[in-house]
Amino acid sequence: MFSNPKKLIAQLAMACAFVTLSALAQGQLAEPPDNSLNERLDGQFNGQLALQHIAHQISFGPRTADYAGKQKTLNYIQQLLEPEADQLVVQPFSAHGLSGNNLWASFYAADSKQKNHPRIMLAAHWDTRPIAERDAVAAKRSEPVVGANDGASGVAVLLEMARLLSSQRAPVTVDLVFFDLEDMGNIDSLPFSIGAAEFVRKNPFYRPTAGVVVDMVCDLDLTIPQERFSRDSAADLQDQIWRIAQSQGATVFKNHKGTYIEDDHLPFLRAGLKVVNLIHWPFPRSWHTSGDTIDRCSADSLQQVGRVISEFIYLQREPL
Ligand SMILES: [Zn+2]
Repeated sequence: MFSNPKKLIAQLAMACAFVTLSALAQGQLAEPPDNSLNERLDGQFNGQLALQHIAHQISFGPRTADYAGKQKTLNYIQQLLEPEADQLVVQPFSAHGLSGNNLWASFYAADSKQKNHPRIMLAAHWDTRPIAERDAVAAKRSEPVVGANDGASGVAVLLEMARLLSSQRAPVTVDLVFFDLEDMGNIDSLPFSIGAAEFVRKNPFYRPTAGVVVDMVCDLDLTIPQERFSRDSAADLQDQIWRIAQSQGATVFKNHKGTYIEDDHLPFLRAGLKVVNLIHWPFPRSWHTSGDTIDRCSADSLQQVGRVISEFIYLQREPL
């Protein structure tokens, strides 16, 4: 329907009467950054727009090696963010005999020249799993997953957040980081989170004040308990996010502990950084099957997650 992704983000935003990226081009960002809360809410995270980003990603096909969808998705993310981000870097890497690309887009805070100003990383993996090994039908287990939830949903949250960051400068610097090769784990003895580990290795001086990894956040029955590795290493940050969720009535966030999940936050925790993982647990039945499709996704689930994160970014009341 839309050929140009930049146009897409603007058209969708306009359709919903939000501040558009074209407004940005017309200089409306010259507004003072200390707008009232009401004005800020006009630019709220929108779940329907996030859902559209899922639809686009899956329309490209599998985001895994040997499929054209991988390059198309990288182009899609890059084309959307290039005109809007203050800095955009694609970092190619080779690891475990594989090649990948991490993408890093920064939106600077108004007072980013101030020393030690807070910096928040919001991250997701953009690759998808090359096999649906948990499918009930044996013949489908060697096929790649569609990855509407496992892959596309996290990216969708980041891209919708980019729209907000473009229209309203945040009080903190925000880095949107897209990891490649998260989902090769246990295939030919490969680990999970290859891209995230490479990102940490290649950027030793990158020390964000806080980080949030989103993964599998669109399911109709989304439940996000408090992931245990995050709990052990970043309890204050996790509590802060859960307090926001509670105050917003974001019911997808559950007030109990989940389990230990190996995901893209681990390389950061190991490097001593505070990063919380927001992930569906117990994993939905569609996980690593041919059933990970967009009909299992909900705009409301995406919106709940997105609005909690955007309050965390925009209305930072507690020290990080
Ligand atoms: Zn996965």
